[in-house]
Amino acid sequence: MKLTDLNSAQDIGANSLLVEIGGLNLLIDAGMHPKKEGLACLPHLNDLPPLDYIILTHCHLDHIGALPVVLRKQPGLEILCSPASAIVAKRILRNSVSVMLRQRDETGIKEYPLFTYNELDAVERALHPIPLMRPRTLFPRHAALPDKFQPETPPSHPTAERDNASVNITLYPAGHVAGAVGVLVEHKHRRIFFTGDVLFHDQETVPAAQFPDISLDTLVMETTHGATPVDNDITRAGETARLLETINTTITNGGSVLIPVFAFGRMQEILTILNKARLANALASCPIYCSGLGVDLVDYIDQMSRKAGFVNFRRHILQDLRIRPLDRQFTPIGKDLPTKGIYLLSSGMLVENTPAWRVAANLLEYPKNTLCFVGYCDPETPGGRLLARKHGDTFLFNSLDHIAKIRAHIENFYFSGHASRDELIAFAKRCDPRAIVLTHGDPPAREWFEEELATELPSAKVTNPSPKKQYTV
Ligand SMILES: [Zn+2]
Ligand SMILES: [Zn+2]
Repeated sequence: MKLTDLNSAQDIGANSLLVEIGGLNLLIDAGMHPKKEGLACLPHLNDLPPLDYIILTHCHLDHIGALPVVLRKQPGLEILCSPASAIVAKRILRNSVSVMLRQRDETGIKEYPLFTYNELDAVERALHPIPLMRPRTLFPRHAALPDKFQPETPPSHPTAERDNASVNITLYPAGHVAGAVGVLVEHKHRRIFFTGDVLFHDQETVPAAQFPDISLDTLVMETTHGATPVDNDITRAGETARLLETINTTITNGGSVLIPVFAFGRMQEILTILNKARLANALASCPIYCSGLGVDLVDYIDQMSRKAGFVNFRRHILQDLRIRPLDRQFTPIGKDLPTKGIYLLSSGMLVENTPAWRVAANLLEYPKNTLCFVGYCDPETPGGRLLARKHGDTFLFNSLDHIAKIRAHIENFYFSGHASRDELIAFAKRCDPRAIVLTHGDPPAREWFEEELATELPSAKVTNPSPKKQYTV
């Protein structure tokens, strides 16, 4: 197998892997870099060979955000994905167009949007959901191959050449977020497994990964938490209890709680936690406000749950919790919110001009309020900058030109969607691969895996791929 990492740097960026195996050119994911701007957001797509298929691991933007650009370059391609991802993919991309249009207006990035609403119909037509945990045989179909390789050849009478060229792929549930899969690619007797983003523990709305228990030739794995030592005292159940306790104490003391959340996944998980607490009479009585993309996605995740499997969520939770929309008229900056309650708002990293960021500008200066972070905040985002400050420091709301003194409580809870580094090492050892390729991690995370694997799996050849360089693995 030949593998080329098309992400522009060795980081968690624009995920996209070109895989040449058998007679096929596969593209696994085509993401948009979350920390770059304009065309620099895209993976290296300029010298792509003719592709046979795209395989999508899940619908986070760092995996899906460049798909329309690939389809523009190579129309007619099929995108193979989980049934759940097929339900939500277009909605996530539509939001991405809206965000890019807003950014163009705010910051003058002329290249935005990198694709248009119109192009999303082509993406929707290209999506081919395939059932999980059932192998699917793929034959070459790109134009550069002789006619006998083209899909018109009846698959029931495959020629030896077609057989040699074909590969089997199987999608396995990866936990992480609704619809996420790992991908097993088999060619003749060789097995390569791509973890995608993976979580080996149950979340409220998505069950744990169910990866195959088989030996592999090559394992391509994410390394997100490589630089995060494992703290065995922290569990999801423990963090859930601590979050509920913090909410209840704040509300009882007459304050408001702001929970900045990622729209896809974390918002629905927190809604489920709140609803379970309410049913157990363990949630202080107060209004709950939600707004943004996350509320819209409730319908999609409900559909995923009913039609696709491996997702547990129902939209009636919004009625059960009597969720209210955020008032369109914002309270003046620096003034505390008139209605005390729980504010479950995107964005998770308090990105400027989002509802969570705007409400933080109301709550931050009042000691009765609490801000509860329930997901990772990049240090360069407003959320990351706020977490780095201490009580009593000042915090600048840049585009509001407002400086606030931090008097509210700020709490950080650990609800990661990614496997711990120890779990990934344990998985690698179970698969006992000849070769391991590291992806989806910042440089210190990858370094940790390189060192650890040298001791734990000394016979495996570990590759930390440089962008655009082709490796034979
Ligand atoms: Zn992800
Ligand atoms: Zn990712």
